[in-house]
Amino acid sequence: MKITDVEAIILRQPDVDPAKADGSQDALLIRIHTDEGITGIGEVDSLPPVIKAIVDAPPSHAIASGLKHLLVGENPLEIERLWDKLYRGSIYYGRRGPAIHAISGIDIALWDIKGKALGQPISRLLGGPLRTKVRAYASTLMPFTPREVETVVADLVDRGFTAIKLGWGPFGQDPDLDISLVRAARKAAGDAVELMLDIGLGWPDADHAIRQVRRLEEFRPYWIEEPFWPDAVDDYRKLAEAVETRIACGEEEATRWGFRELMDRTGVDVIQPDVTRAGGISECVRIAHLADLRGVQVVPHAWSTGIIKAASLHLLAVMPRATFLEYCVQETALNQALTTERFPLDGGFVAVPDGPGLGIEIDHEIVERYRVA
Ligand code: MG
Repeated sequence: MKITDVEAIILRQPDVDPAKADGSQDALLIRIHTDEGITGIGEVDSLPPVIKAIVDAPPSHAIASGLKHLLVGENPLEIERLWDKLYRGSIYYGRRGPAIHAISGIDIALWDIKGKALGQPISRLLGGPLRTKVRAYASTLMPFTPREVETVVADLVDRGFTAIKLGWGPFGQDPDLDISLVRAARKAAGDAVELMLDIGLGWPDADHAIRQVRRLEEFRPYWIEEPFWPDAVDDYRKLAEAVETRIACGEEEATRWGFRELMDRTGVDVIQPDVTRAGGISECVRIAHLADLRGVQVVPHAWSTGIIKAASLHLLAVMPRATFLEYCVQETALNQALTTERFPLDGGFVAVPDGPGLGIEIDHEIVERYRVA
């Protein structure tokens, strides 16, 4: 089998609010075609036009090439060799950031092709699923008032979620407001539901964060996510050492090398590689093993469409330990309808797809409706 074409397709809803921390308003779909008629799909949750340029760019020289050029004519079943070829072929401008994001989407699409070619779900090709369902946590934005928080949380509990994350929004603007929002969330959630809090880079430093986390302890947050910029490694270490509450970060990090350094320098309890940015399914499996060696929990970041949900579920199925699927509940068309699969909850859990490849279908009408020419 040979790769005949690699498409990077930008999808975008007509009314994007750039001030909102909602990456499901647009999407970058990868489609890899083969000479045997099998097509693989992948997604990249990054800045779509930049990823498209990285895929489409003509080669400059041996270690600075667009990615499509490196793939056409290759055997799509040799995924690890191709990952290495893409990494080396983009090393002057790549290594981390958007080149690895683009490689991530390609890696997912190659796994989809391999699964379709062999008639097996990706989780089986990765060695076999250790679990067939994963507990979901509902992931949404933090509303701006305690009253709104109660409504949002009560609704998610009604829908069957047993864990809920609220993030970004007003977090970090006012220390007392942070506390009253979380108090409202715990009140609406009851005692049995896990609550995660994503501070969205909102706290200024470790001393402030230590005071805030201690004030929040009575509401039993499962973790505190991204209180600081990703490069504030000393603040992360100071905070993680000072408090009992789990500290989580890593959605901007990529590759096994990046996560090794992140874990060893910050000492955080939970890392959140995004399968569409950190290097794809192949690299996230390696990252999960590095984390397992260190006793660090891996809960993949997953915001945006059904493609990322499916890719994350296959990854979660084979990780040494898996606790949660991040389940984005944004009501954008791309999150809700790009795939025909809807990922229903059953007792708070979501099933790992068991069809060939990713085990999902794209709604081509949605692709055509939101496609940017
Ligand atoms: Mg986050």
